[in-house]
Amino acid sequence: MKIQDIDFKSDRPELVRLRNTAPKSSRFQSKILLKLAIVSAAVVLLGFSASSWHPVAKGADSTSKLPRLHYALELPGKVVRTEAEFKNPVAIPDDGDWKIITIKSGDTLASIFDSAGIPATTTHAIASLNKQTKSLAFILPGQKIHLLQDDQNNLRSMKYIPDITKTLAIQRNEDQTFSSKITHYRLQAFPVFREGVIESSLFEAAAKGNIAESVIMDLAYIFGWDIDFSLDIRRGDRFGVVYNELYKDNVKISDGRILAAEFVNNGKVYKAVYYIDPQGNGDYFNEVGKSMRKAFLRSPVDFTRISSRFNKKRWHPVLSKWRSHRGVDYAAARGTPVKAAGDGRIKFRGTKGGFGRAIFIQHGGRYTTVYGHLNSYARGIRRGKEVEQGQIIGYVGSSGLATGPHLHYEFRVNGVHRNPLTVRLPEAKPVHPSFEKHFKENTQVYLSMLQLMDNTLADNSL
Ligand SMILES: [Zn+2]
Repeated sequence: MKIQDIDFKSDRPELVRLRNTAPKSSRFQSKILLKLAIVSAAVVLLGFSASSWHPVAKGADSTSKLPRLHYALELPGKVVRTEAEFKNPVAIPDDGDWKIITIKSGDTLASIFDSAGIPATTTHAIASLNKQTKSLAFILPGQKIHLLQDDQNNLRSMKYIPDITKTLAIQRNEDQTFSSKITHYRLQAFPVFREGVIESSLFEAAAKGNIAESVIMDLAYIFGWDIDFSLDIRRGDRFGVVYNELYKDNVKISDGRILAAEFVNNGKVYKAVYYIDPQGNGDYFNEVGKSMRKAFLRSPVDFTRISSRFNKKRWHPVLSKWRSHRGVDYAAARGTPVKAAGDGRIKFRGTKGGFGRAIFIQHGGRYTTVYGHLNSYARGIRRGKEVEQGQIIGYVGSSGLATGPHLHYEFRVNGVHRNPLTVRLPEAKPVHPSFEKHFKENTQVYLSMLQLMDNTLADNSL
């Protein structure tokens, strides 16, 4: 196994692709191709001219500002920076019968080894081997572990693949000790442009436009603050999206981040572009630098139904008396993750009267959000801890005065309870004025790619 080292290929013909679902004349087609060539050249230049690496934005983990976006590890037009660790070089045999295990929810290294008949002493030896192998305590569902065993089931080698850019290899040495090595792979990111027109549904349009479901989920997430994709979508709505396709060793591995997107909903045009500021913070903004997000999520949990609304007075089933309900109850299965509605700091975490296990988050000077009846708190959530919007802070339960599992959620402005379902949510911060020039320079090329779609449609209507 060796470090992949592939240079950016400027002559890749599919660097930029255009798919038009609407008919058009060949004259306009050649006009579009010319524009495409110009944009392609610009993308390539961008890829080559940057002499330093942009800091890679925060990943799609639980603390991400955009928790549903899938990949954060690629950079447009460039290979991802790699590091290699060769402190314990090991030779992993390519022969033999490798058993490939996809990690399931609840699996641990010990349970996986146990099922494979590997003795517990080996589990311990590997788990305590070094810093690299400590990561095996944090395996996640969907990741893969490869095992190579001898005919007594003893472990000869293993590979742990936490994501597409990294492999941890462990090998048994002649003296029966183990050594490990982490290999980082370079990924190539190529921006592509795709578009679609909605006839029946967003997903049908995406399938026709050869756009993966994960990309369309991200698209719906980016515009989800402005467009309700379950209610607002109209026949004839259209969208264009520029996103990275990720290659490893010249083989497409997956789709990467959306770089820019446009959605025309009921005649109204929404645009979004991904921007990483000089401090390394990446997020989506519209073409003039306004955030695509609100400062707060409308609902901090994926709920099945609203079981009780904000109400001045209601009959309380547990207390058996009339009481005002100063929040919203979201019914959800026990254990459903509860997310921080906005960036803030944990003001309180603990048991509080009828709330049961509760979390209070302070957001700047004006806003407080409250999460009650939790089953448990997320790891690391304690008083004083800073949290980001979308970060998992706890899990739905029925602690305190609750008849069944639900989240009691409150939204307070200057200490006054407001209806979380209707309160006007403040916008998230725009691009900082001092980064305006940087924003324009770094987003123009992708916004131009979207512009092609507008021109195409304008041409067609001539
Ligand atoms: Zn409630």
